[in-house]
Amino acid sequence: MQIAIVVPCYNEEPVLFATNEVLLSVCEKLKTEQAVDARILYVDDGSSDSTWNLIEAYSQKNGCVGGLKLAHNVGHQRALWAGLDWATYHSDAAISIDADLQDDVEAIHEMVRRFLEGKDIVYGVRRARKTDTWFKRTTAQTFYKLMRGLGGDVLYNHADFRLLSRRALEALSEYSERNLFLRGMVRTLGFQTAVVLYDRKERQAGESKYPLGKMISFAVDGITSFSVRPLRYITYLGLIFMFISLAAIIYAIVVYAEGRTIQGWTSLLVSLWFIGGAILVALGVIGEYVGKIYSEVKRRPRYIVEKTI
Ligand code: UDP
Ligand code: MG
Repeated sequence: MQIAIVVPCYNEEPVLFATNEVLLSVCEKLKTEQAVDARILYVDDGSSDSTWNLIEAYSQKNGCVGGLKLAHNVGHQRALWAGLDWATYHSDAAISIDADLQDDVEAIHEMVRRFLEGKDIVYGVRRARKTDTWFKRTTAQTFYKLMRGLGGDVLYNHADFRLLSRRALEALSEYSERNLFLRGMVRTLGFQTAVVLYDRKERQAGESKYPLGKMISFAVDGITSFSVRPLRYITYLGLIFMFISLAAIIYAIVVYAEGRTIQGWTSLLVSLWFIGGAILVALGVIGEYVGKIYSEVKRRPRYIVEKTI
């Protein structure tokens, strides 16, 4: 039984040594306790620090460590996809985990146990969000609610810490989209699934590669990849405005028939600006989808590999 632990890394020099030590001991334990042959695959997502040199050094020191160096930075999801692509052909299952040791490696053993029992997908789900700031917690909850409300299926408090069997990986590789939102895509696979609860820790070293801007664009990506309901809501909004304006027209006619006129510019200006804003928002939403179609039809590669070890 071969299992690949896939670790996307972007400028993770400060934490990689610790990560490697921890993951090596996990591999050791998997071998002795669960008779599983585990390998670690680091995917260097175009780092500008010495991440790749470290990966090379660890790989030379230990046969069960390997690496893919991507030609440029493509983002967490695509870097992960690159690693999973490799794992699809070289292992029986793949576990994806972040490089910063936030996810509890102890959960890996439980994941493997569930996999050996016959599960194809094992989700790592955070028990509590104690280590998060209030802001991150609230925005995350809002996102999950929004996503569900719009008809997308996401598992609360599950990020990208999960095990996928080869069957699941093969099914996933059939998905041809370029805008990847893996946690949503995996949910549509089906198969036998299980959940493993764990406590998420603080980042061990280095800093988060997901500042607010990237987080928002990831959330928008997630929503627009999984739901077209925002487009329908625009239609509803237009209908509501139409009914309101219809009422206003009738009112104006009645007032006119009585020999009066409606006074003032305020109502005119306010409604003009309001409808102008609403139209721009609607265009923006449509634009998001058009942009998505544009980037999808180009069919550019998701990642380019520069070196492997
Ligand atoms: N990452 C990546 N490419 C990027 C950004 C991040 O491969 O462009 C990796 C990063 O090295 C880490 C994982 O994605 O292993 C998650 O990133 P991070 O821990 O910074 O995100 P957070 O936990 O703060 O959401
Ligand atoms: Mg992290």
